[in-house]
Amino acid sequence: MKVQQKTQSESTSGRPGGGELALIQHIRSRAGVVHRPSVRLGIGDDCAILRSRPGEEIVVTTDLSLEGRHFRRDWHPAASIGHRALARGLSDIAAMGARPLAAFLSLALPAAVAQDRRWVDGFLDGLLGLAKRHGVPLAGGDTSEAPGDAVIADIVLLGAAPAGRALRRSGARPGDVLYCTGSLGGASAELGRLSANPGHFKAAKTGPHLFPEPRLAAGQALLRRGLATACIDMSDGLSTDLAHLCESSGVAAEVDVSAVPLHPLAGTLEPAARLLAALHGGEDYELLFAARSSTKMPRKLGGVPITCIGRIVPAKGVPQVSLIDAEGRRTALEPNGWEHFRGA
Ligand SMILES: [Mg+2]
Repeated sequence: MKVQQKTQSESTSGRPGGGELALIQHIRSRAGVVHRPSVRLGIGDDCAILRSRPGEEIVVTTDLSLEGRHFRRDWHPAASIGHRALARGLSDIAAMGARPLAAFLSLALPAAVAQDRRWVDGFLDGLLGLAKRHGVPLAGGDTSEAPGDAVIADIVLLGAAPAGRALRRSGARPGDVLYCTGSLGGASAELGRLSANPGHFKAAKTGPHLFPEPRLAAGQALLRRGLATACIDMSDGLSTDLAHLCESSGVAAEVDVSAVPLHPLAGTLEPAARLLAALHGGEDYELLFAARSSTKMPRKLGGVPITCIGRIVPAKGVPQVSLIDAEGRRTALEPNGWEHFRGA
């Protein structure tokens, strides 16, 4: 499915074999013919041709999903693996307040997996189902036989935002108020619960870990209504992603412990573990953003509840991120979320 016919006649690893060609055709037929204004030409030529509207800029993000690092094939349903691969990229597009234009999928599969059409179709069900709900065409990609026994899925997403207006991490200023969408800790609580009974993974059809929902409508509303001064998506956890936002903006932040919205699944954990899941759990894919204190913030954006969780303060003389308890006591919150290759 190399964008385009190129893969069908040549590739860096030589001519694709019959199996690979069949896989390309299969993915291509599953992706269907694209009728979107953003895609002038989809799969089937050397390159896709995309179109943005006048006055827009293009945003681009890539996300690598590695078996053994981001998912386990013996645990995760194939649909969840496909869904999550795309959701991670869409969440980055959401954090910029952009609208997605097109997705590109590069997939390396061990030979046995490539021949298992049930796995491939499950993966595509998850990926294409999420893509369809958000109107994101799959406009190209590449496939190859993986050299080892691990599945590798790389997603490239292109989006568009009005020129100069894409939300960034760098615009927060002291005095701003800190908000998040949805609730936190659900993904890590769900993963913990499923890991204790791995047999339950395959039967699960929903859940914040297996099928996270990227907050595209909320991000686009923030941009369109000019509500946010800075924004990031919480892929790595509140503690780590807030540190990123503070670093980029040159500010510090205070989080009110009692204000952090706990996901119901996190609420079922031991009391001591609940806040840890919300602060450090990661993979919630909610948006974390700052706004002027004078900005009247709606209670919901894109159908998702918005919660005020703290404030932005000057970076001098305080930890980069502080937790403030109900009595007003301050403790430093060290970034301790998911970091790729930690300990590797
Ligand atoms: Mg991100």
